[in-house]
Amino acid sequence: MTRKVRTRFAPSPTGQPHLGNARTAILNWLYARNQGGAFVLRFEDTDTARNVEGGEQAILDALDWLGLDRDEGPDVGGDHGPYRQSERGELYLARARGLVADGHAFRCFCTPEEMEADRVAAIAAGEPPGRDRRCRDLDPIVSAGREAEAPSAGEEVTLRLRVDSGPVAFEDRLKGALSIDGDDLGDMVLVRPDGRPTYNFAVAVDDFEMQISHVIRGIGHLSNTPKQVLLYRAFGAPPPEFIHIPSVLAEGGGKLAKRAGAPGVLDYRDEGFTPDAILNYLSLLAWSSATGEEVLTRRELIEQIDLDRLGATDAEVDPEKLRWLSGQHLRRQSAVSIAAAWAGVSGVAELGLSDEDLVRAAEVFVQRTSVLTDAPEELAAVFADPDLRTEAAREVLASPDASLALETLAGAWEETDWDVGTLKASMRNAMQASGVTGKSFFQPTRMSLMGATHGPDLTDVAYALGEARTRRRLARALELAHDHRRETE
Ligand code: GLU
Repeated sequence: MTRKVRTRFAPSPTGQPHLGNARTAILNWLYARNQGGAFVLRFEDTDTARNVEGGEQAILDALDWLGLDRDEGPDVGGDHGPYRQSERGELYLARARGLVADGHAFRCFCTPEEMEADRVAAIAAGEPPGRDRRCRDLDPIVSAGREAEAPSAGEEVTLRLRVDSGPVAFEDRLKGALSIDGDDLGDMVLVRPDGRPTYNFAVAVDDFEMQISHVIRGIGHLSNTPKQVLLYRAFGAPPPEFIHIPSVLAEGGGKLAKRAGAPGVLDYRDEGFTPDAILNYLSLLAWSSATGEEVLTRRELIEQIDLDRLGATDAEVDPEKLRWLSGQHLRRQSAVSIAAAWAGVSGVAELGLSDEDLVRAAEVFVQRTSVLTDAPEELAAVFADPDLRTEAAREVLASPDASLALETLAGAWEETDWDVGTLKASMRNAMQASGVTGKSFFQPTRMSLMGATHGPDLTDVAYALGEARTRRRLARALELAHDHRRETE
């Protein structure tokens, strides 16, 4: 029987995910969506020293921005909650007690000092060090009685798993068959004397109770896996499928770490990357499409994700590639949606453009941008009122053919449809009619329209500026050109 696919993303609420964490979330989400399964979010917040204020919200915001919707989680609820480890204490304790009752676990009354002395002695004797020597074979009735007396006797109780010698074997989708000996694991602690579960116990209980079918996570967790496999054995259930993915490295090859200043997903949002580009980029940092296609939509990623195509090597973040992909995704959006996104970018409102202006500008200038925040500079270069009082402007507009070029062009653009093709054709006609060509024609035109000597295609500029603005700018420049001629004559 194949089980229903249920994947999970299990971050600690330490703030917004960096690209490596985000990629883990993305793969789990894509695979769940591909399989018609469920994507579960769980906060692993038992290490309270690491939790940061607002950390959960930052993760939710990042997932929302990336469009990774949850089927179950602390924010949306579900049948397998609670979805915060800090709210699951009773469940861990109950599960541990169940394991004690059925003999898989035992109560240990040793002090840390005794355990340490045992460890040293075991190593000296060439025996496995992590095994409890006093309590694992206590008679259950005796040990239960001792637990009841523990508070008055000044004893503390740790619940440990009984780990026998022999192989703990498991499969990883990428690494293949792996095995470690129980002797190397020792009688692992499940619940500490203060009632707190250990990390691996909590993870295994959660994955088991939340019926997780596939654990897709960073390679750093591979060493935890045998412990979790042993726990599944104790629960009498087959473990989930494990898929440990290689790391995402910072540019230059170092570890991606928030502490080392690795940007978070929301920083990319603030820089104006589109979420689809991040989704696309991080997906293909992990697996390649069978067609070799690099620009994939959300839908295509869901359709094409294939765990058998996961790469086995670490991948470095390449900011240039990410910008390129972002540009590709922007270009696929409608001008109306780009215009709406541009309107919200800081620095755009100050330009005082109408919605129509922005839509026309988006049509012709989006291919000059990679991220939304490229927009203010591109737009300002075209829409800001040109300063024609500069020396450069004077020089260009005073040139002998400037007036003729501008006059003819103004005439040609007088009664014309305002689309790039028509503007281009009528500009060509104006050049022919005036006999002014090349630089002598383009320079005064560009100077009139945008007060500069370089920039985007002229007809794109005129199209974006719109009919009224273009006409006004040509007329004003023409006036100045006449003035300059008069001064020089
Ligand atoms: N909480 C772990 C982390 O943030 C993930 C645990 C797991 O995926 O098993 O790295």
